[in-house]
Formats: sequence, C-alpha cells, structure tokens
Amino acid sequence: MHRIALITGASRGIGAAIARRAASAGYGLALNYARDAAAAESLAAELRAGGSRVVTLQADVADEGQVLHMFERIDAELGPLSALVNNAGIVVPGARLVDMDLARWQRLFEVNVFGALLCSREAARRMSTARGGRGGAIVNISSRAAQLGSPGLYVDYAASKGALDSLTVGLGRELIEEGIRVNGVRPGIIETEIHQTSGFDDAKLQAAAAQIPIRRLGRAEEVAEAVLWLMSDAASYTVGATLDVAGGR
Ligand code: NAP
Repeated sequence: MHRIALITGASRGIGAAIARRAASAGYGLALNYARDAAAAESLAAELRAGGSRVVTLQADVADEGQVLHMFERIDAELGPLSALVNNAGIVVPGARLVDMDLARWQRLFEVNVFGALLCSREAARRMSTARGGRGGAIVNISSRAAQLGSPGLYVDYAASKGALDSLTVGLGRELIEEGIRVNGVRPGIIETEIHQTSGFDDAKLQAAAAQIPIRRLGRAEEVAEAVLWLMSDAASYTVGATLDVAGGR
C-alpha cells in the first residue's frame, strides 16, 4: 500500500532527518516549512532523485487558513494521508519567568501547541475510519524539557511541550477506535540549528553534553529512527505513548 506522510518543519534539523528516513521506508512525502523555501526544495530534489514522490508546502502551522490550504494540496497532489509528524516547533531565548512577556508565550503556544492541534485535526478528519478514511499514525515531537521543566532557561517552552505530551495521551485514547495511533517522542539535546535561537552556543552545548549520561549530544537521525518506528505497523500496540530519545537525560 502506498503511504503518504506529512512532516511539519521538514526543511532542516529533525524534520529533515525524519523525511529522509521516511523516504527510504517508501513514504510519499509532504514537506512543510515556514520560511526557508530553498532548504525545503533542496531536500525535495534530493528525495525525488532517490525515487520518492515529494511535494513542498509552505505554511505557518499556527495559521488555520494556511494549514487548511496545505491539507487541500496534499489531498489533490499526493492522495490519502496515512501519517502526520507534528515536528514544527520553536524555542525562545533563555530567560527567567519574571522577564518574559505575553507576546513571547502567545507565539510559542501558537506554533508548538495550536499548530499541532490544527494539523492533528485536519489529519484525523482525513484518516479516521469513522469518516471513511483508512486509519494512520500521528507522532508528536515533544522534548525532554516537558518533564525537566527548563528552570531559568525557558519554562514556557517546556510548558508548551508538556501540553503536547497531554495531547498525545488524550488523542491517543480518543482516536485509536478510529484506526489512528497517536504517539510522541521526547528528544534530548539534539545537534540542530534550533539552539541558535535559544542562545545556546557551542560552548554551552558541549558543557551540557558532558552532563548527559551518554556524554554526547544526539543526532537528528537518532530521533528519526524512533519516529519511523512509531509510524510503522511494528508499533501496532503502542498508543498514547511518548518515547524518550535523550541519551539517558
Ligand atoms: P530547527 O532546526 O530549528 O527546525 C525547525 C523547523 O520547523 C524548520 O523546518 C522550520 O521551517 C520549521 N518551522 C518553524 N516554525 C514553523 C511554523 N510556524 N510553521 C511551520 N514550520 C515551522 O529545529 P529542530 O531542532 O529540528 O526541532 C524540531 C522539533 O524538535 C521542534 O518541535 C523542537 O521543539 C523539537 N526538539 C528539538 C530539540 C533539539 O535539541 N534540537 C530537542 C527537543 C525537542 P523554516 O526553517 O522554513 O522556518
């Protein structure tokens, strides 16, 4: 059976690694990105050269109109969706709560939480066996921050990922009777460009790596392996679970 996956935030980092791994597993791919069209097109060209069906879709996952248009394009250009990875996410510069403002929290929750809610709703409308769909899988990319809380750094980001973990539990139980398995992954500190936003420079990252039981940062490919397993039928009895991929952190 031909499988179609939407990966949000696929232009780089963990999303791009998931896209490469999904392409090698035979998925047709919808690659979503926000701003970096060149990076998304370059990845799409690489995957097409390997024989994959790929469309690139610019959309801010926090914008309902853009999300609706993105799913309509998937329907028209790729066919029935079978998997969604809610990977698009942002961090914010390190700060203490007393120095944070509402605008920062609004954008963080719009992207990290409302984005996942919007995309999950549209995917469920299409994949639900109760609505004529064929079932499927949703994987939410959370963070170890959800459980560690990130005090003094970004408790707001951690709280947004905690919300995502609750969504994974609730939606997992709500949608399983409609043939949709919802699960999540909590990455630890993974080497991607996201740290440029949080103000974590190389020295801070290496210092953090020394505190991780495995004594190194993670690679995006290592997160992708867990995501692909959760998407696959090999995880057929795994529902509402979130897997730590964090080197023991
Ligand atoms: P990244 O390198 O910064 O990449 C983020 C991706 O998300 C980019 O493709 C970006 O697209 C896209 N994006 C950002 N805002 C978006 C929006 N509003 N709508 C659609 N796409 C949007 O980040 P990453 O490190 O790969 O992180 C991916 C996910 O893993 C995030 O949810 C993050 O919170 C989570 N995570 C990361 C780490 C880590 O250490 N790296 C740890 C735990 C959890 P454009 O470039 O086109 O804007």
